[in-house]
Amino acid sequence: MAVSATVAVAGSGLAGLAAAWELSRAGANVALLDAERRPGGMVVTERPGGPGEKDGFVVEGGPDGFLAAEPDIQELARDAGIGGRLVDQLASGSSLWTGQRLEPLAEGQAAALLGIQIPSDVGAQLAAPLQFGFRSFATGMLDLVEALVARLAPVFRPAQGVTGLAPATRGWRLSLNGGSTVEAEAVILALPAWAAARLVTGAGVPAARHLDDVIYYPSTTVSLAYRSDQLAAAPAGTGFVSAAEWGESGAAVRACSYSWLKYPGRAPPGHALIRAFVGPVDGDPAAAAHAELAGILGIRGSPLWSRAFTWPRGLPRYKPGHAGHVAAVRERLTRLAPLAIAGAGFDGAGVSACVKSGREAAREILHRLGQV
Ligand SMILES: Cc1cc2nc3c(=O)[nH]c(=O)nc-3n(C[C@H](O)[C@H](O)[C@H](O)COP(=O)(O)OP(=O)(O)OC[C@H]3O[C@@H](n4cnc5c(N)ncnc54)[C@H](O)[C@@H]3O)c2cc1C
Repeated sequence: MAVSATVAVAGSGLAGLAAAWELSRAGANVALLDAERRPGGMVVTERPGGPGEKDGFVVEGGPDGFLAAEPDIQELARDAGIGGRLVDQLASGSSLWTGQRLEPLAEGQAAALLGIQIPSDVGAQLAAPLQFGFRSFATGMLDLVEALVARLAPVFRPAQGVTGLAPATRGWRLSLNGGSTVEAEAVILALPAWAAARLVTGAGVPAARHLDDVIYYPSTTVSLAYRSDQLAAAPAGTGFVSAAEWGESGAAVRACSYSWLKYPGRAPPGHALIRAFVGPVDGDPAAAAHAELAGILGIRGSPLWSRAFTWPRGLPRYKPGHAGHVAAVRERLTRLAPLAIAGAGFDGAGVSACVKSGREAAREILHRLGQV
């Protein structure tokens, strides 16, 4: 089967969704392709429903929020009509688990300890405590994905992984798994860096092989639910970062969010929801996380339930020279039929940076197609 579109967007994570949204608003004929059946990429929110012990919880498997100082994701939310679903963090401050006790951390220090790259303009705002804070959506990060997909559903083509990209008479021909093709005047690859590297190199840009230098770190998040009375006391702040290296003295929990204190509506009344970032462990990560958290937070008894999400390739980290490689590839792409790259593999891992990257790619493509 062959399909034609003005612009094919590969990848329906936040970068691809933001790009497709911008293009479709401008009137472009878009095909949004994803290798998975589910849109959203790393955004995974579960809201177990129905009567039962999981009812009323909001469980995040990937991102759970963003810095309030980052405008792009919030602008997109307002565009999509869900500005009213933006929620502020309830608690503030985080702690350091020294191995013996929880000690308060200065604002921004937790992110630094976790190696999260904060854009310099946001970093400047972190210095002003009143502007510091995180935001999310009323029933989880999936709120935004759902709002965007509500409009993009007619052009979303799930389980359509792009396996090849080649010049065509007018633009590009994308090969898809299963043997079908899409012809498009322009293409946006909002894919992980390794996937984009392979496609762009195959399309005749040898410099794009450097995009594969981006390292994606494996990570597991474990959400654990308790009754409030299982905790000795409600902890202070939004969570803690562990000072221990992974594996050191058996430590598994690298960081932890008190989800039910951090954002509104994450657990029903009388319950607590904790999310731990767990390093590589032998055996069940939920059991390892509970065993450590019980000691740190004074938790009695077992969790009511737990849910683990494993990301074999989670947050990307860039090697020195990354920005130069990306700029060189983008410069080379200007000499080909309209083709752009976007997403966490190139322009920053935070969700708002991904939205910005997707929207900028869409604007560049519209400019090249003469539609703006
Ligand atoms: C555990 C975890 C917690 C995080 N927490 C936060 C947080 O709190 N705040 C924050 O700002 N950021 C956080 N991040 C980072 C952030 O979630 C991601 O960087 C961001 O969502 C990536 O968006 P993206 O669109 O660039 O890529 P992705 O979401 O990875 O989307 C890429 C899409 O491309 C698809 N795809 C792959 N190959 C192909 C192919 N060949 N053809 C077609 N489709 C393909 C994939 O199926 C996927 O849907 C977290 C990440 C993780 C893993």
